[in-house]
Amino acid sequence: MTRLMKCSLLISAVAVILGFLIFLLSREPSPAERFLKEHPYHFSETKEWGEESQDSYTENGGCIFSAYPETDNEESMKIIDGFTQTVLDRFQEFSATAAEQAAALPEDQPREIPRLILDYTAEKKENHIALRLFSASGLYKEDGKGTDSHHDEKVLYLSEDGAPLGIAELLGKERMEKLSKILDRSKLSIDTLEDFTYQENEITLKWEKEERTFTMEEIERGGKIDPEKPMIALTFDDGPGQYTKQFADLLTRYNGHCTFFMLGINVGNYKESVKYAYDQGHEIASHTMRHKDLCTLSQKDITKEISDADQVIKSVIGEKPNLVRPPYGSAKSTVASIAGRPLIHWNLDTEDWRTRNPEAIKTAILNEVSDGAIILMHEIYDTSYEGLEQAMEELDKQGYQFVTVSELMEYRKVTPQAKSYFSFPK
Ligand code: ZN
Repeated sequence: MTRLMKCSLLISAVAVILGFLIFLLSREPSPAERFLKEHPYHFSETKEWGEESQDSYTENGGCIFSAYPETDNEESMKIIDGFTQTVLDRFQEFSATAAEQAAALPEDQPREIPRLILDYTAEKKENHIALRLFSASGLYKEDGKGTDSHHDEKVLYLSEDGAPLGIAELLGKERMEKLSKILDRSKLSIDTLEDFTYQENEITLKWEKEERTFTMEEIERGGKIDPEKPMIALTFDDGPGQYTKQFADLLTRYNGHCTFFMLGINVGNYKESVKYAYDQGHEIASHTMRHKDLCTLSQKDITKEISDADQVIKSVIGEKPNLVRPPYGSAKSTVASIAGRPLIHWNLDTEDWRTRNPEAIKTAILNEVSDGAIILMHEIYDTSYEGLEQAMEELDKQGYQFVTVSELMEYRKVTPQAKSYFSFPK
């Protein structure tokens, strides 16, 4: 190759590179690049903790405004990275779909720009730092107008040096013990918790299928029930049956619990309903096995009536009932000592089995109700359900709280003994 040839080759190479550079510099900015410049996102300024890592950039035709905190704590960083990565991955898919749809549009139709906000707030609280990571993404027009179609949020509670804090650390030992007791009553456990949010004055616990909020005041006093306010125990005999679940749901609707005195012979046919009521925190108690008048039986037969029922109930809920209601309310002291636990009678008889009339049942309850009452009903009639539903609306307005018989005993500080009880007034 001659020198001249070499020289001209070099010149043309330089020209190509220069041309490319000029092209790069002079080219129109992409719609996303323009959007990024003209419609910047204003990041949150509530950042009282962590080293902020902030960036605004375009990628695959979309705009990304991202800010996240950095900390030396590996455990927290892993959670923060996990959240950030999930959000970015989802946005990538979202942008790709948007690009595909845009490609199918007519040439002259304006394109929308996928926009992602990834930001956080970090607030110093009394005993922790509340870190809220959040994201929003959607399609935006060139003029900056648009709506976010997807939101994500993750709240973390951290110590000053960035270590994640659990419920026990946030609540402290004493409150934690009280909360565990409250949850026990509803057959719920901290161990199966999926997530929670904590504020100075309340905590919301989230399980797979359930969510409960407790104020600190409720935790302090041991539950939703205010011991100073009137409370009654609704009791349902002769089930389980076709309406058991309905009764359970009705009580749950009012944040209350009731006691089912079940007949052993019915349990096998409604196992699922028994478990359902039990899992909602209602009390499953014994109405003996076969509804016999215990006063007419021998000691041996009384024992059998009670222990047979114990066994079938235990086979479904995993524990023996703590209370027994003798059929017809018929019992003498020997029955109590054989049962070895409280015999629960009532002081308010709705006579629902006789009237089968919702209005009469409602009136009976409202006329005779008093603080600490044990109300007798039967769960095998739809008329009982209707009457109770109407009565509860009124009772709730009057400030009555609905508790199980065992709860009522506990709130009235009665130590369970093997004898007959009729009510638990203050
Ligand atoms: Zn009965």
